[in-house]
Amino acid sequence: MSKVASFFPATTGFVPAQENKTRITGPRSTTMESAKIALIPCLLPEKQVHEPFDCAPSTKCNSWGCPSPQAAGPPREVAIRGAWLGIKKPLVQSDVLQLFVNKKDLREGSQKLLDIARANGGNRAFGSGGHNATVDYIYNTLVKLNYYNVKKQPFTEVFSQGNATLSIDGVRVASEILTYTPGGSVEAPLVAVPNLGCVLADYPAEVAGKIAFVSRGTCPFADKSLAAKAAGASAIVIYNNVAGALSGTLGAPFKDYAPSVGISQEDAAAVLTKLAAGAVTASVKVDAIVEPRTNYNVIAETKGGDHNNVLALGGHTDSVAAGPGINDDGSGTIGILNVAKYLSHFRVNNAVRFLFFGAEEFGLLGSYHYVKSINGSETELAKIRAYLNFDMIASPNYIYGIYDGDGSAFNLTGPEGSDLIEKDFENFFKSKRTPSVPSEFSGRSDYAGFIQNGIPSGGLFTGAEVLKTEEEAKLFGGTAGVAYDVNYHKAGDTIENLNWEAFVLNTKAIAHSVAKYAVSWKGFPAVNLAKRRYAGDKAKVFKREIETHQHDHHSGPCGGGALI
Ligand SMILES: [Zn+2]
Repeated sequence: MSKVASFFPATTGFVPAQENKTRITGPRSTTMESAKIALIPCLLPEKQVHEPFDCAPSTKCNSWGCPSPQAAGPPREVAIRGAWLGIKKPLVQSDVLQLFVNKKDLREGSQKLLDIARANGGNRAFGSGGHNATVDYIYNTLVKLNYYNVKKQPFTEVFSQGNATLSIDGVRVASEILTYTPGGSVEAPLVAVPNLGCVLADYPAEVAGKIAFVSRGTCPFADKSLAAKAAGASAIVIYNNVAGALSGTLGAPFKDYAPSVGISQEDAAAVLTKLAAGAVTASVKVDAIVEPRTNYNVIAETKGGDHNNVLALGGHTDSVAAGPGINDDGSGTIGILNVAKYLSHFRVNNAVRFLFFGAEEFGLLGSYHYVKSINGSETELAKIRAYLNFDMIASPNYIYGIYDGDGSAFNLTGPEGSDLIEKDFENFFKSKRTPSVPSEFSGRSDYAGFIQNGIPSGGLFTGAEVLKTEEEAKLFGGTAGVAYDVNYHKAGDTIENLNWEAFVLNTKAIAHSVAKYAVSWKGFPAVNLAKRRYAGDKAKVFKREIETHQHDHHSGPCGGGALI
């Protein structure tokens, strides 16, 4: 070891290598012995930082030390060798960190999540075995790096899941449970309820022991379900008052509801015709679980770096119950986790906090819990300079979407600094000669709690159930008129659902932003608490507007659906 130190005179800034067994990350090999001989320090032209690279002594250094990345071998080995030799880790640098990103690592991580889902009933929904195993995998991976302070943050929320079967006069009709419905099974006459069934007085006496048939409208589904139960109905079927299926939520668990299911306006029209002609018998079967479940966020912050000027970034670790969630949000989870691994080979100026949230699919519950755990203290909030969110970054029919932090496209501006984050991502894609488009900054993923506390935020999104436009197909390829992710919230969201090109490039974008902000917040406004409070209040006002679409995090059906 000491021999190596002589390669680096004091003026190069290297900490002299010392015999330090704890820094050895691999067995001593002949390759490493020979590598030492060729190892020279390179003066990085921009940063004036000396880094260890094993170029031939005569070669001219480029931005990361050698004539070409190939000449130095895989970059991770360079960094690992640096650690092995007892040399101070190099300061992280975007182009170097990006070189670590590779499809194999992303595929391995995605496969791991899929294996976890398959071993746990096909999903990783919050509070389930699949989610707990996901949390353990992330936690253990981060702890092993010995680079982060890692903790699991428990929280308890109500889990609800189920399915409905409905037959009208023996013919099956497509139906969906309303979130938080109790279970039950009944076969009985169907009774059309006049008015909209919002109050007990709407229900005729004959509904007792039978199934109430009620239109959507005017009041929350919960009011209808409670009134039907109070009138003695054995179940309630609510039909849509606009075209399409009805997917909604009773809004809160554990009330005295009748078993509640929704059907489409189209199917309801046929049923109403039958009811006008005479008696109709319905069979409703609801299988439902509604129970409190404890689950976990995982929080990992670099041991090094300035803990008063933190970059926070995150994604969610839970899937919906319908599938394994490998794009939503396995892609964000694995992209971030791999960047966390790669970062561990480097030194940072600013601390980086990786956040893995649970229960996003049930209404951003994990991220809200996390934000609440710190927002009692303005000091803690002020430490977070920015938050970056990565929820779905490998959609099969992808767009390169960047949250519209400056409000230029959707008129929903984020807190001051969000515009800079958007610009930085735009510049990243420009540097790769790749187009990008703004994505609505609506508060429908885990960044909502951050913008509601005035923290500058941004992130990437490759699209969910919305159909790709002709224009987007011209820009990004793929198929116009087809959803960005046809398997959104479905059993088909497996490893086959991922687009690897988008996954790799977006993970490089994560690496780029982590490296950039871990080095410097240059250009970012200083934290101004008054401005943050104002921005936070503005975001909350907007949040109220979207409250009726709660759980609607990808501007599509998610978790509970509509309340009314
Ligand atoms: Zn998601």
